[in-house]
Amino acid sequence: MKSKTKPVSVVSGDSRRLSRRQLLRTSAVAPLGLITALAWAGQSSAKIEHIELFAVRYPTKGYFKFFTGPGGSYGRGAVIVKITTGGGAVGWGQSIPSPMWSYETLETATIVMRDYLGPALRGHDPLDIDRAHEVMDRALAPGFSTAMPIARSGLDMALHDLAGKLRNQSLSQMWHRPRGGPLKLSWTVNARTLDEAQKVIDDGYSRGYSNFNIKVAPDPKFDVALAGLVRKCAPDGFLWADANGGYDPATALKVAPRLADAGVDVLEAPLRPNRISGYQALKRQGALPILMDEGVVSPVELTEFIRLKMLDGLAMKPSRCGGLFVAKQQIEIILDAGLMWLGSGLTDPDISMAAALALYGAFGLNKPVALNGPQFLTADVLAKPLTIKDGSAAVPDGPGLGIEVDEEKVVELMKETTNSKRIVI
Ligand SMILES: [Mg+2]
Repeated sequence: MKSKTKPVSVVSGDSRRLSRRQLLRTSAVAPLGLITALAWAGQSSAKIEHIELFAVRYPTKGYFKFFTGPGGSYGRGAVIVKITTGGGAVGWGQSIPSPMWSYETLETATIVMRDYLGPALRGHDPLDIDRAHEVMDRALAPGFSTAMPIARSGLDMALHDLAGKLRNQSLSQMWHRPRGGPLKLSWTVNARTLDEAQKVIDDGYSRGYSNFNIKVAPDPKFDVALAGLVRKCAPDGFLWADANGGYDPATALKVAPRLADAGVDVLEAPLRPNRISGYQALKRQGALPILMDEGVVSPVELTEFIRLKMLDGLAMKPSRCGGLFVAKQQIEIILDAGLMWLGSGLTDPDISMAAALALYGAFGLNKPVALNGPQFLTADVLAKPLTIKDGSAAVPDGPGLGIEVDEEKVVELMKETTNSKRIVI
């Protein structure tokens, strides 16, 4: 029986049927980049075959209000995401919900990925991240903004890691930007008394940190005293106050000038994000640059909030806005508007911290970064930990996120902390 040979074309839909040998033959005359892209785009083995989820809780040390609740310490919950293609390529990401920060929890993030976002991505081309977000938009409808952005961010990061590995490019190379870094880290002072604050500040100094972000609200008197104490200890440091939406508008207007007098450089999230007129009044007051954080999820509301003159800048967090794809767009919007952006996080563990470092490094951030995972977390899942020295973090180098996840460590952490099982989608 004779086999029929189809004519080979590298530009028509027939390229989907190229065998490896045909592809190699064709590559002798076509540019390598085109061939690589066609090879991955055209072969079903490059499609997402399955997604695995590992629910873990990174153990924490020290007091941080976001990891405590009625049942004691929550730990730093995270759903670790592993995406595998039919060809065996793997990308890792991490969703990091915290019920004390927003409505997303370890349980909801797991269910949303297991039953909605994950199944929608199976069979998808991992190089087409733009379209992956459209697919996820359809799988779970938005509310005021993108649905369940923290859950989604883990999938976005894993897609970026996978796309980088398939292309043999780091994130900065995929974005045509420099790698940047190292990035100075900010030390978080979340204290209930001034004595406790002093101890936290001393601890930061002893580990090489000289820039501080303080958690303020709802007590203005304590907040001004705390700001004064930190400024006295760190006369030249960058002092960043974050209220996490904890003031009402009248209190925020009173406390902003007093925090400025005490030496604070910027005031983040003084109000809940739905206090639109309050944000406008604080920006008009001009006592401190007003940054937003909670409530800015998609580029749409960021653009609207800028138009409404609610903010002087934005604290960036890929996890808050559904991942790197949107976070990068938000930095570009902020830069276009001539506003300020700072690098922040949600006490990101190793995988999502690597993603945030890559983004902030690529955009040349030169202010201290409030990525405080190294301060509060005591476990990691990497074969080689992130490089953090004297209060600075290097931007990981290498394809994708530039890290190697140790799956045995992931499974061990899952067993030890949540006693749950790997979920395969
Ligand atoms: Mg914040």
